[in-house]
Amino acid sequence: MLGKLKSFFSTDIGIDLGTANSLVFVKDRGIVLREPSVVAIQADSKRVLAVGEEARRMIGRTPGSILAIRPMKSGVIADFDITEAMIKSFLDKVCPRRFYSKYAKPRLVIAVPSGITEVEKRAVQDAAQHAGAGEVFLIDEPMAAAIGVGLPVAEPSGSMIVDIGGGTCEVAIISLGNIVHSYSQRQAGGDAMDDAIASYIKRVYNLLIGERTAESIKVQVGSAYPTGEESTMEIKGRDIVAGLPKSLTITSEEIRGALKDTVALIVDAVRQTLDRCEPELSSDLFDRGIVLSGGSAQLRGLDKLIAEHTRMPVVVADDPLSAVAEGTGNVLNELDVLSQNKRAP
Ligand code: ADP
Ligand code: MG
Repeated sequence: MLGKLKSFFSTDIGIDLGTANSLVFVKDRGIVLREPSVVAIQADSKRVLAVGEEARRMIGRTPGSILAIRPMKSGVIADFDITEAMIKSFLDKVCPRRFYSKYAKPRLVIAVPSGITEVEKRAVQDAAQHAGAGEVFLIDEPMAAAIGVGLPVAEPSGSMIVDIGGGTCEVAIISLGNIVHSYSQRQAGGDAMDDAIASYIKRVYNLLIGERTAESIKVQVGSAYPTGEESTMEIKGRDIVAGLPKSLTITSEEIRGALKDTVALIVDAVRQTLDRCEPELSSDLFDRGIVLSGGSAQLRGLDKLIAEHTRMPVVVADDPLSAVAEGTGNVLNELDVLSQNKRAP
């Protein structure tokens, strides 16, 4: 009875704690928050000034006294206190503190990269609990993504998901509700693509560009495979030699060249995972195809490139940015069962 009352007053929440973007799913309401995973702090006092979009606008533009930090940058908790502040801010936004007390703390399902260690998992759990959560359940990101895109994960047949976010590329083959094979590549996410573009522009044009400019070049003219529609873009940066602002025009062909090595790592991660796959599972995968999710799955022609190198059908999820959060939301419906299992000896 008390348990029922508690669950009536508390909220069940799913969080995709991404390296680039965090999404929050509230049970019976769906995805209610999407914010960049960025926290701005005062450098000396470490006081939190802003979280999310507001903090993101400060990246690269902050005076020395303010730091804009991405606490999850390479797929792990790089800074515990800042991660805690970020989770707290998101929880406050979706369920104001007055709605929960000591007895009705929200239960959380948090998606974490599959490659993280037990210590890192503990850190995510602790950060969430310090931020005001009650029970905290962790789910592997690729499993959440697979559930989110509607793959039949519980069936005794293989499904393959490739989730490419900002900091990581996660490949997983799932069958009977378990991850059978997985591969987490931290050098092949969207951040690595941005770095590759920035270093190309620096090497070829002696031009320094910021993180956000590199990202917008990728989104506007970047590709992994020729799509038949080439384009150009005018960019601005600082000339290394003269030290002055300068603008120039780049082409989609040269950016494809700059992205080649990073994209090859994604293809390699997929191929290595397929190589380890049992023949029976391989044939299921061939029938069902590979599903791509995560923001970087939207890189033009990435699906074609992977299809060419694996000779398998490849599709990009309908809403690649929401897959993991939708998956955590789906798991919220199983929480009472999970909760009982956890308490069982
Ligand atoms: P994470 O799960 O790590 O938070 P997301 O799934 O939110 O990451 O994806 C964020 C990444 O997707 C960023 O690196 C961003 O630049 C990239 N991205 C977003 N839109 C596009 C696009 N149209 N083309 C290529 N990359 C994109
Ligand atoms: Mg993600």
